[in-house]
Amino acid sequence: MAVIIIGGGAAGMMAALTARRQGARVILLEHQNRLGIKLSITGKGRCNLTNMKPIDEFLSNIPGNYRFLYSCLTQFSVQDLMQFFIDLGCALKVERGDRVFPEHDSAKELVHSLRLALTTEGVLVRTGITIEKLLKNEKRVVGVVLNTQETIMGSVVLCTGGITYPLTGSDGSGYRLAQECGHSLITPRPSLVGLKTKESWVTSLTGLSLRNVALSWGEGKKRRSEFGEMLFTHTGISGPIVLTLSRDIIKRLEEENSFDPIPVFIDLKPALDEETLDKRLIRDLEASPGKHLGNAMKSLIPRTLIPVILEICMLKETMACSDVDKIKRREILRVLKHLPLHVTNHAGLGEAVVTQGGISVNEIDPRTMASKKFEGLYLAGEMLDVDAYTGGYNLQIAFSTGYVAGMSAAHFDE
Ligand SMILES: Cc1cc2nc3c(=O)[nH]c(=O)nc-3n(C[C@H](O)[C@H](O)[C@H](O)COP(=O)(O)OP(=O)(O)OC[C@H]3O[C@@H](n4cnc5c(N)ncnc54)[C@H](O)[C@@H]3O)c2cc1C
Repeated sequence: MAVIIIGGGAAGMMAALTARRQGARVILLEHQNRLGIKLSITGKGRCNLTNMKPIDEFLSNIPGNYRFLYSCLTQFSVQDLMQFFIDLGCALKVERGDRVFPEHDSAKELVHSLRLALTTEGVLVRTGITIEKLLKNEKRVVGVVLNTQETIMGSVVLCTGGITYPLTGSDGSGYRLAQECGHSLITPRPSLVGLKTKESWVTSLTGLSLRNVALSWGEGKKRRSEFGEMLFTHTGISGPIVLTLSRDIIKRLEEENSFDPIPVFIDLKPALDEETLDKRLIRDLEASPGKHLGNAMKSLIPRTLIPVILEICMLKETMACSDVDKIKRREILRVLKHLPLHVTNHAGLGEAVVTQGGISVNEIDPRTMASKKFEGLYLAGEMLDVDAYTGGYNLQIAFSTGYVAGMSAAHFDE
């Protein structure tokens, strides 16, 4: 019997090649007109395919069910994935943050190497295919039925991805196939995505990037903070530290079905505590008493941010530094350390890097990626309820789970 892979993304292509290399007859079915569309836009077109951090640190970057992935990541490790691509003729390089990229800096080239390997090694690839249903008996999946009513017999590996960037083909349609086999769906939501804010002043700062700032949200023990780079968009905020915090903020917004915006705070000067920053302000103001306040702040924050900060403080840019008394100075200090924004929504599924939620991992054997509901069914990649932060972790998850699913499916029935 054949191994039928549904979904030709990172996980599906890896599953197909792995099963084929075990000697199985493999058919890869993709509903788009070509394979690997999402993969070819990863890493801003350069494909950050994995990360060389030690395993503990690697796992700490997977907030969504990292324990489930331990076996897969051991069976097909970061080193195994790197060797896999080197063997395909793709030299690799390691960049800042231990992120691994192809030396040619081209995600499209990488996808081309995968497509070439699939066809030359004998995987039957069929694109533009719509799957109507999985064919099954009481306890076993035995094939698929296409919308043309054509039937293909074999064990099935589902690798249909999540719900984000739906134009790439990952439109959530694959969840139905798993659900029809009794699998539960943990509400899929966007993660690693920009955030919309209530404050309309962000529009005036569109494109402004802030480095070495801290963004925080939540209270008490649940307070979370990220340090690094962020930027303003025409509807809110984005950039690395926003993407990282977006996962939990969106979950909170949607879980509580809350219409109350969630407050977040930017610390524009995280390297200076309040006392040190106050001394710095006093020094700057005293150095040029006749100068406009707006001009005196140029050495402290980006120019375009000054009118926004001063308006929140209800101070005029043109006021003389000598007129800034202790109360006004304290207010400036407060806003510099806790610039408030209120998150109303995410920037949209079409902009989210990854999906949190998906098919419940409790119903999947972590050692084989086999369904615990039906024999002859395997699941891999982003369609599962697993997700990670940026840095190459999500693709390693897709490739590792794809490898294990392909390997298991090839040896099913033996
Ligand atoms: C812009 C962007 C940049 C990213 N950059 C990185 C990065 O640099 N590093 C990183 O680690 N991660 C990155 N990611 C995340 C990473 O791309 C995904 O986690 C990964 O592609 C998931 O692989 P997958 O095979 O599970 O799903 P996908 O790559 O989404 O593939 C699923 C495939 O299944 C097909 N399909 C879906 N439904 C059906 C159906 N019903 N029938 C048939 N076929 C179907 C789809 O068309 C698609 O080809 C990025 C994501 C985005 C959106």
